[in-house]
Amino acid sequence: MDTSAQQAASPAPQTGALTPMMAQYFEIKGVNPGYLLFYRMGDFYELFFEDAEIAAQALGITLTKRGKHQGEDIPMCGVPVHAAQDYLKRLIGLGHRVAVCEQVEDPAEARKRGSKSVVRRDVVRLVTPGTLTEDDLLPRGGNNFLLAIARIRHGDEGFALAWTDISTGEMLVTDCAPEALSDEIGRIDPAEMIAPAPLADDLAAERALPPDLISRLLARDPDHFDSETGAQTLRDAFPGAVDPTAFSRPARAALGALISYVAETQKASGVALRPPLFQHGAAHMRIDMATRASLELLVTQRGETKGALRDAIDMTVTQAGARAFAQRLAAPLVDAEAINGRLDMVERLAGDTELIANLRAALKSAPDIARALTRLHLDRGGPRDLSAIGRAIAQARTIAATLSASVTDLAPLPQGLTGIAETLDGAPQDIADELARALADEVPLFARDGGFVATGYDADLDTQRQLGSESRKVIAQLQAELIALTDLKSLKIKHNNVLGFFVEVPASHGGKLMNGAHDNRFIHRQTLANAMRFTTSELADLEGRIARANDIALGIETKIFARLRETVLARSPLLQAVADALAALDVSTALALLAVERGYARPKIDTSMAFEIEAGRHPVVERTLAREGKSFVANDCALSGDGDEGGQLWLVTGPNMGGKSTFLRQNALIAILAQMGAFVPARSAHIGVVDRVFSRVGASDDIASGRSTFMVEMVETAAILDRATRRSLVILDEIGRGTATFDGLSIAWACVEALHETTGCRALFATHYHELTALSQTLSRVSNHTMKVREYQGDVVFLHEVGPGAADRSYGIQVARLAGLPAPVIARAKNVLETLENKGTVNPATALGDLPLFAQTPATPISPQPRDNPVLAMIETARPDEMTPREALEWIYELKKARHADGDR
Ligand code: ATP
Repeated sequence: MDTSAQQAASPAPQTGALTPMMAQYFEIKGVNPGYLLFYRMGDFYELFFEDAEIAAQALGITLTKRGKHQGEDIPMCGVPVHAAQDYLKRLIGLGHRVAVCEQVEDPAEARKRGSKSVVRRDVVRLVTPGTLTEDDLLPRGGNNFLLAIARIRHGDEGFALAWTDISTGEMLVTDCAPEALSDEIGRIDPAEMIAPAPLADDLAAERALPPDLISRLLARDPDHFDSETGAQTLRDAFPGAVDPTAFSRPARAALGALISYVAETQKASGVALRPPLFQHGAAHMRIDMATRASLELLVTQRGETKGALRDAIDMTVTQAGARAFAQRLAAPLVDAEAINGRLDMVERLAGDTELIANLRAALKSAPDIARALTRLHLDRGGPRDLSAIGRAIAQARTIAATLSASVTDLAPLPQGLTGIAETLDGAPQDIADELARALADEVPLFARDGGFVATGYDADLDTQRQLGSESRKVIAQLQAELIALTDLKSLKIKHNNVLGFFVEVPASHGGKLMNGAHDNRFIHRQTLANAMRFTTSELADLEGRIARANDIALGIETKIFARLRETVLARSPLLQAVADALAALDVSTALALLAVERGYARPKIDTSMAFEIEAGRHPVVERTLAREGKSFVANDCALSGDGDEGGQLWLVTGPNMGGKSTFLRQNALIAILAQMGAFVPARSAHIGVVDRVFSRVGASDDIASGRSTFMVEMVETAAILDRATRRSLVILDEIGRGTATFDGLSIAWACVEALHETTGCRALFATHYHELTALSQTLSRVSNHTMKVREYQGDVVFLHEVGPGAADRSYGIQVARLAGLPAPVIARAKNVLETLENKGTVNPATALGDLPLFAQTPATPISPQPRDNPVLAMIETARPDEMTPREALEWIYELKKARHADGDR
């Protein structure tokens, strides 16, 4: 947790002994504690004292010194302004916060106050991980959320979460019960969090959140979280548009704190946020943090995006679409009607592959309106943002036309798509026309660079520009004139930033222009090794005229930019709606393409207790296998509940590596995909809405928070038994493995009984405790299923097929052998196992008492060696590189013969 905002500024200013500049530095640093101060000096941002030491180390830049403070050198380092973005990105990525301090007056103004006065400076922006707006700094394809957590102690209102992505302006708020806090934070996955100091302390002390999230938490003064102040902040930010009383007290507190933190960091008078939307916690499928991690929805357990579900299925083509896709995947719906609405759109699009192709092509060239709008709002936008909005409007209207053109009597558009088409059709054409007329084809990033207004748009501007270009003609004429005058063909008129325009001749001819030659026309300015430079009064005059024309032109362009910006911002709500519609269409089109390309089916979603999956597949493992040229074995799963009875509970046994975890996960993923509104990897699926998915798969340590593997497992299992409802889907894998055999078996046994008798949810329970399968005789809704294997000459072949029945063994030793455990260890293990199986396991120590010593165990191979098997022997001795194609063919025939001969033995 970052408590730096609470710390006092250091080091303490000693104004008496300070230079005016250092006094100014300390003053600014003092009001921005907890931030690295980027102090603008000319073309650099300089950092001093501890800030310099931190930044130099973090950025790998040189630490120098400048002057003295209290008799000691002042450490200093700097980053060039033009490359500051890159350095900022690295510092923010490392969790630092930066205050950007600019010169806010012209140095000439400062000089007027006296030669020793310093240029006035002020912090124009606080850059923090949760308040980024620049494309370069923002994550690609994801949101960058800032989250405020509030707690109201009196009354029973509890917690509230308010969060925003200021780069898109969306703002959401939800009330939250204490036990749901970490789940909700995990779902939002904020880049930065703020909480009142006491709450932040509690969250850290109680280990309520994983260390990674705690490190993103900034403790703030509790006064920022006052609900009354929050109500006023809301009224001020959205006059007449938001009624604060519509939100709970903690929600008002969280929203107020959030909005004021945004204003504080952006130093912006107007807040570029959209009115807050209340999100009902019950509107989404609850997925707790452990389940999210174990199912690897957005990132893998190692925190990587590659290999996670999203990476395997996200086919969106726009940044806004990718953000919406991630949000839907993180928060599937629970309202069957809403889910079916989304599925209707996907189905309609999936039925028209030509339409998919056309829409995707058009979407691809629709720029990100939301982020451009925010930058314009914050006065951080440039001509490229305007141009992006213009092009996006044009694309939106083209897409609306494409959608409408696809309608036939047999294939009308479902409601969702009609709504999208209407919104896109309402994109303001007048703004697109105006921007298209006003802006040049290629525009610079910043308005201050000029040159972005198209020729023909503004008569005054064209006149000034003409003056500039005419001046260039005049220079060409003047050059010709001076060449004729001096008879020096190598004379050239050039320009640089120091001298402005000047005449340059080779050094050998310079003498001809010196000493009052040509009526003192040439004034010497510079002698270089190879050249001499002069100026003339005509050139100085021209210089002034061009500069004035450029200044005037830039002034006109700046005014045009400001006007266009105002025009665009005045239509913000409409443009934001267009942005949302484009994103939603991108998601539906991507899901339709996914369905078509991968053979996914539309799930039947209703409010029943059904869970009937026919030929289901794991969306990620299937992809991995396909890349290796292998196919995935599809499996059915039937957990439907009946009437008032709870759902079915399948006990899945089978060998290690048999595919149990894959089977469990694929069913949880199918439920999540279905409820986010996607087609699913199955031949068919019927799912009665699942309110919560719980997954406890595999063991994981949480060493950082001091919990052992077994402890983590039990904490997560406790949470499942406590929170799962009849409507939940629970998948549990190998519960009780991390402790003594009988302890583990007993815990697993009791958990199955509790799930069946008390919770009554639909559940899959994988285990190596084969004793558990006896429960199917006493518990009516428990049935046994097993991953099929075939044994071949002592080796085990995994079929990855789920069938009825129970496994009688785990084939652990065979799998260990495949994994490369040394032969003597394998032989010995086999020996021990046989002894235990013969004598029973009531007391293994006694049973194993008369086993021969390890060293005496014969290292008998437990599977045939190549020499015993002619086919294996042939493969072992083959030298493919040395065979001609014909020999290879003959070899294959031989192989077949050997296979048959071996089969006959
Ligand atoms: P353990 O008990 O050792 O944890 P497990 O039974 O849970 O093993 P998984 O981890 O699910 O086994 O699967 C092992 C491997 O088998 C997977 O990595 C995958 O490559 C393959 N596999 C699993 N299911 C299938 C399937 N249905 N079709 C094809 N290959 C599969």
